[in-house]
Amino acid sequence: MAKFYSSLAEIKREIQSGEVTVQGMVKDYLARIRSNAHLNVFNEVFEQEAISRSKIIDERIKAGAAGRLAGMVIGIKDNICYKGHKVSASSKMLAGFTSVYSSTIVERLLAEDAIIIGRCNCDEFAMGASNENSYFGPVKNYADNTRVSGGSSGGSAVAVQANLCHAAIGTDTGGSVRQPASFCGLIGLKPTYGRISRHGIIAYASSFDQAGPITRSVEDAALLLEIMAGVDDYDSTLAQAPVPAYSHKLSADPSKKKIAYIQEALSSPGVDPEVKSALVGYIDKLRAEGHTVKPIAFEYLDYIVPAYYILAMAEASANLERYDGVHYGYRSPAAAGLVSTYKRSRSEGFGREVKRRIMLGTFVLSAGYYDAYYAKAQKIRRLIKEKTDSLLQEYDFILTPTAPEPAFKIGKIEKDPVVMYLYDIFTVQASLAGVPAISLPAGTNTEGMPLGLQLLAKRFAEQELLNFSKYFLEL
Ligand code: GLN
Repeated sequence: MAKFYSSLAEIKREIQSGEVTVQGMVKDYLARIRSNAHLNVFNEVFEQEAISRSKIIDERIKAGAAGRLAGMVIGIKDNICYKGHKVSASSKMLAGFTSVYSSTIVERLLAEDAIIIGRCNCDEFAMGASNENSYFGPVKNYADNTRVSGGSSGGSAVAVQANLCHAAIGTDTGGSVRQPASFCGLIGLKPTYGRISRHGIIAYASSFDQAGPITRSVEDAALLLEIMAGVDDYDSTLAQAPVPAYSHKLSADPSKKKIAYIQEALSSPGVDPEVKSALVGYIDKLRAEGHTVKPIAFEYLDYIVPAYYILAMAEASANLERYDGVHYGYRSPAAAGLVSTYKRSRSEGFGREVKRRIMLGTFVLSAGYYDAYYAKAQKIRRLIKEKTDSLLQEYDFILTPTAPEPAFKIGKIEKDPVVMYLYDIFTVQASLAGVPAISLPAGTNTEGMPLGLQLLAKRFAEQELLNFSKYFLEL
């Protein structure tokens, strides 16, 4: 029976004392994956490979030559390339496609002896907030199987929540690491844009996409960030700034902080009352500890979601041009000639939500509408970024709920895309501004569903964010 380890440090202690082996843990996880198949977490499990790697890593540990992630078994979102392994972005479009190279993050994780146990279900091409847009069907929340996992990294989150592996890697374009982490009672970190290489990660909206860890402890989030972050010749958008030793410098920071919270989070009728009381509870605790916590009005709140979706769809429409029935994956059996190959393969290969976004994305970029939509959204993004930056000059952190509601019932809002888009209200600000943000577990509601709160910090202030998160969770 695989134990719920809170951190890799705890696993390492048990390995050292001989209580467990990496191989034993991998076998336990594989058994749990089988008995929880109904959760629909994995698109593929790398069973044999995980077992054979575990033996090698046990040997390395014995020889004192193991990497920093020895003992950590992880799942990766199925939009992260791993050489020689299939990758599908949970789309029919990539049926049968095998990665020809590994993403930089996979290489870095493997170099430190992590074991990748499988590729996790997600919304198709990472487009969604509930994992219901997957070609392989929704992922079920482990706390209540009739509810969504959150998305788009839903499989990655439930993999950790249900203890099918120790930690997972997701990608976050507008909240896809943070929101499923909050729906599953976990920690989800979206780093500063430009901190982690996007090389080998299937692009959704390139000016937003960032990979991030989903973990049970801040320690593990810090360690995974430290290992994945930093310059890479294959991604020119990366910051040159050196990567701090986040995990070594991690310590709960009790110093007095200035924290802002967006007052609409408490006044808006769209926010669930129990989410509000979780937020109020933490505001009170922080004040009682002597921190300054102040409400702020964010005047662009109504524009955050529309600006994000216009820009993300525009970028997606360009990024998804490459799936043409010729280069990758699916080709319609009815294709005859070039144009029909494109049209039929794309019509049959993409799901509804992806097609909606490609069409809207090309629309907002088209000659007659570019200025009215795309260029305007770019200007709004600039305003949101500048306002966020100036708030973060005045305050150390911005505190918000991660999502307006806890995990909702499968099928409840899937039919109405605009309602689903509005659920991203609190996560897309950090994505538009490019600043780091973390979702932290904040108890459960009366139905036992996890609640999450989010902290935003200054660009490249991941260390401060992690240190304060550790303190926050100990409050
Ligand atoms: N829900 C958002 C969207 O659908 C965010 C997805 C993501 O971060 N990948 O675009």
